[in-house]
Amino acid sequence: MSANADFVRRDLAVLWHPCTQMKDHEWLPLIPIRRGQGVWLEDFEGKRYLDAISSWWVNLFGHANPRINAALAHQADELEHVILAGFSHKAVVELSERLVKLAPPGLTRCFYADNGSSAVEVALKMSFHYWRNLGRLRKTRFINLSNSYHGETLGALAVGDEPLYKKTYQPLLMDVITVPSPDCFERDSGESWEAHTRKMFAHMQQALAEYHEEVCAVILEPLVQCAGHFRMYHPVYLTLLREACDRYGVHLIADEIAVGFGRTGTLFACEQAGITPDFLLLSKGLTGGYLPLSVVLTHDKIYQAFYDDYTKLTAFLHSHSYTGNALGCRAALATLDIFRDDDVIARNRLLATHMQRATAALAEHPHVTEVRQHGMILAMELVQDKASRTPYPWQERRGLKVYQHALTRGVLLRPMGDVIYFMPPYVITPEEIRLLAEVAAEGIELATR
Ligand SMILES: *Cc1c(COP(=O)(O)O)cnc(C)c1O
Repeated sequence: MSANADFVRRDLAVLWHPCTQMKDHEWLPLIPIRRGQGVWLEDFEGKRYLDAISSWWVNLFGHANPRINAALAHQADELEHVILAGFSHKAVVELSERLVKLAPPGLTRCFYADNGSSAVEVALKMSFHYWRNLGRLRKTRFINLSNSYHGETLGALAVGDEPLYKKTYQPLLMDVITVPSPDCFERDSGESWEAHTRKMFAHMQQALAEYHEEVCAVILEPLVQCAGHFRMYHPVYLTLLREACDRYGVHLIADEIAVGFGRTGTLFACEQAGITPDFLLLSKGLTGGYLPLSVVLTHDKIYQAFYDDYTKLTAFLHSHSYTGNALGCRAALATLDIFRDDDVIARNRLLATHMQRATAALAEHPHVTEVRQHGMILAMELVQDKASRTPYPWQERRGLKVYQHALTRGVLLRPMGDVIYFMPPYVITPEEIRLLAEVAAEGIELATR
């Protein structure tokens, strides 16, 4: 038996993989990875794969990054973890100081959790609890966008809007007010992103006007709904939303778990609208893709609403065992060092241009209805009929054919439905981007036959 197959047999005997119909693995090979180096992953037989999706959008500076490795080794020798209630440590304080400096102005407090969904739960609970501490007991609901995604735990799932993940669990979920997404894929022909985005804000305006008395917060993913098939919109939505939330006394929760840390061309997507949300949620790229860690940044007004004598029982009594884990915080600090030392945001602008050029011809493909991009996120949407934008029947799993083809060519593309996307680590080279585009083009050709 080959080294890969032997290992896969062991895996399939004991594991249950995430987001997977396990029966698929009767015919779809699972790929065991022995090591990673930069943008490359290597399987048990030495075959290499270019990680075009940053291992589920987490990796920023390559696998086995020497600088992050060194920082972690040092931290492990000093302190791996300590309870963060009543205790503190160097890495978490340094990281909080750095994040407060880098985040939009006014976000002065960091609350940690250990994955993105948990950060969403923290923000929802904090917002609700803030209003409660102020005696605003009617505020119990949240506004979200259609096609949104905020994670898989029950609260996070409830404020998302992807039926594939959510529908089954609907009876368990709180009720939310869902406003149509400003998704610019839906714009009229000839309409600009900005005009469409502004037009769509009317729905949000209306929902806020109608429900603000009972709404704690609006939660959204700034600029790109990544898990929602990489649908994108113009930053003006965030500007308008900030004004409206202030006007109606509703919090704004910016879920930058996927788009934060340079993905959209700025360190944080909110910067493109010049706004400060009430809660900024970060995870995924926070540790450079090394360790599970998340953080909720908020401002002093929120913090002060919880700050009182213990017996008033206004404290935020929420915790996770690994809150503020020292290794995670150290990986995050090493990641921020790389941003600072390597002028990453400027280099990303060049890489984004390379991605755009390399895929420009694909926009003309008879089954590619749109190539869209925000910085280091580029997506191409396949359709059966371009004129009417009729999708392929989902049961045909066309995107999966692109995935399979790419693997034979040593590229890890993992289309979302029929949307093929590039979200590579920032250490990718222009040549490797050209390889990605070439392989994607071949895959699309095969999948749309
Ligand atoms: C991935 C993601 C989450 C959930 O993070 P997990 O760490 O997977 O729980 C939440 N929001 C957005 C926008 C995400 O992309």
